Amino acid sequence: MPPHPSLAWIDDELLRWEEAGLRRRPSIRSAPQGETTVVDGRALVNFGSNDYLGLAGDPRLAEAAARAAAEFGWGAGASALVSGRSAVHAELERRLAQHEGAEAALLFPSGFAANAGTVAALVGRGDAVYSDAKNHASLIDGCRLSSAERFVYPHNDPAALDAMLAQRQRFRRRLIVTDTLFSMDGDLAPLSELAELARRHDAMLLVDEAHATGVWGANGRGVVEHAAASDTAIEETAIVRIGTLSKALGSAGGFVVGSQSLIDWLANRARSYVFSTATPAPVAAAAIAALDIVREEPQRRIDLLRRAARLSRRLRERGWDLGPPKPGPETEIASQVIPIIVGDVDAAMRLSAALREAGFFVPAIRPPTVPEGEAMLRLSLCASHSEESIDRLVEALGSPQLPGA
Ligand code: PMP
Repeated sequence: MPPHPSLAWIDDELLRWEEAGLRRRPSIRSAPQGETTVVDGRALVNFGSNDYLGLAGDPRLAEAAARAAAEFGWGAGASALVSGRSAVHAELERRLAQHEGAEAALLFPSGFAANAGTVAALVGRGDAVYSDAKNHASLIDGCRLSSAERFVYPHNDPAALDAMLAQRQRFRRRLIVTDTLFSMDGDLAPLSELAELARRHDAMLLVDEAHATGVWGANGRGVVEHAAASDTAIEETAIVRIGTLSKALGSAGGFVVGSQSLIDWLANRARSYVFSTATPAPVAAAAIAALDIVREEPQRRIDLLRRAARLSRRLRERGWDLGPPKPGPETEIASQVIPIIVGDVDAAMRLSAALREAGFFVPAIRPPTVPEGEAMLRLSLCASHSEESIDRLVEALGSPQLPGA
């Protein structure tokens, strides 16, 4: 059907994206997430999910959801403030606060909603927000929505941030915003330095632990917990922590943890909380089951990070560019998000296609998700990957000069 003249520009734009190799089409998965999944009709070893602890397909989550559905039905039917918040939601918030060692927690419909709504509820006109150049889109959108003056500091550069914070003092409130584990490069934010800057400049600090919840830190609280193990001063900083239930915890939803007054403020002022229907109770019940597993099976996250370190080392030895060592050259652990930097869009697409032929799903990440010239393969290691699958992937990748060699 020919487009309506007022919408014809969309076809022109899509064609332009197609020609530049940037147009994306959602794939169709026809099996649960897991070590192997079926993508567009093909069984592939799955290195393209955020199901880091292998819980998305765990029957214990599905059983908890089924029990909650039997008791509470499916849909929440209203926003939390009206009548959408069931006893399951309340229990999940209690459990999240407990798990995170915080006074209180607030559940949002998604991590995106938690980030965007929280940033915009903490700063507004007359305030300033300082955002890392590689922050997730949801934090960027929160900064834009807030109407605060925006300052973007170079990625993971506390010295540049310090200079920005030192320059302008005329704002009412100031907020520093960062991911803790950056979703594309797999590197960690310098939390000790950022917390010190927040204390010295009397600024608030908000962190997004989306990729670290359940994986990092002695109890699986995230990178703040990991960093606080070697820097007790972090505990003295009132950090607003945001996490997601949709990655390592295998369910869906986002959450904020902090003081009771912070949570009460957000419940009143975060528009993505106030004006959005609560998540279905079964989704919340599955998240509670996932928190039990995170507590009872710490070996999942310990093994995952050990394997990530080993895999990163092997790929580097073969000559692949994984970016700077993470979190640092001397550490025994590495991030479970492993970028294989290729640069050219076509080369990244070819490498991803060759791996697919060999039976592996490793998505290519292209602009605008990453900057121009920084196309990459993003390898997500999960607890469900066997040593054998990892070995086979290393063999299939070969070396940069001789893929598959
Ligand atoms: N923060 C980061 C860093 C993310 O990668 C994502 C999801 N891609 C989100 C937030 C949003 O979380 P959710 O998927 O739960 O909306």
